[in-house]
Amino acid sequence: MSLYQISCPGRVLFREDELASLARLEGGFELSRRLYCALETGHEGVHCVIAQGVSGTEEIPPWNMWIRWPEGDEYGPGREMLRLEDCPANFLTGTVQEEGCHLPMGHWGRHGYEFGPPLTDSDVMPEWLFRRFG
Ligand SMILES: [Zn+2]
Ligand SMILES: [Zn+2]
Repeated sequence: MSLYQISCPGRVLFREDELASLARLEGGFELSRRLYCALETGHEGVHCVIAQGVSGTEEIPPWNMWIRWPEGDEYGPGREMLRLEDCPANFLTGTVQEEGCHLPMGHWGRHGYEFGPPLTDSDVMPEWLFRRFG
């Protein structure tokens, strides 16, 4: 297993009308015009990421609005926004470190808590430094 397993570098850009419709949702996230795919790098099929977390109402529990897009179509008509169920997997269930997967049900690859966010070269300890501490 690689120490630097990262999430997919695929990214999506929202149009103005999409941002406006997301802003109308009763949400918990600050809207971002550009988002990165949340799946593990090297995955098959479409990219996806949560576009907005919706806080729900007394009758409706919180839910997530996702955006999915095919490779190479991050600003094109192949994108779709839709509600997806969450993956039910949890890490360290019942402890204070409990962490959800935060990926959609049936997602490709490992669970969200099993790999990290994208890293830049500057986040990775150079090998010579690693050997000094190793
Ligand atoms: Zn992806
Ligand atoms: Zn999962």
